[in-house]
Amino acid sequence: MKEKYTQSDLFKAHTYIFDNYKELQRSTLCGCYFCEKTFFPYEVKEYVADEDGGLSALCPYCKSLSVVSDASGYRISKALLHKMKKQWY
Ligand SMILES: [Zn+2]
Repeated sequence: MKEKYTQSDLFKAHTYIFDNYKELQRSTLCGCYFCEKTFFPYEVKEYVADEDGGLSALCPYCKSLSVVSDASGYRISKALLHKMKKQWY
């Protein structure tokens, strides 16, 4: 897993916030890049359905659609969440 993130890493990681229900089931840690909290997949209780029927996780703390999980191949760290926040918020 990567420790350093390039701009394209950030964009790739961003795509994992959509339709990530299945990913979350096989991940060990998640993070929200809006409130920059980390949490476990079972803490996620709400999902929103997209047009194709995919389910996207909502952060259990701030309810925003900004959840990435380590099943995406990215280590969920404060540094990653912080960089993503700067990029998208
Ligand atoms: Zn959050």
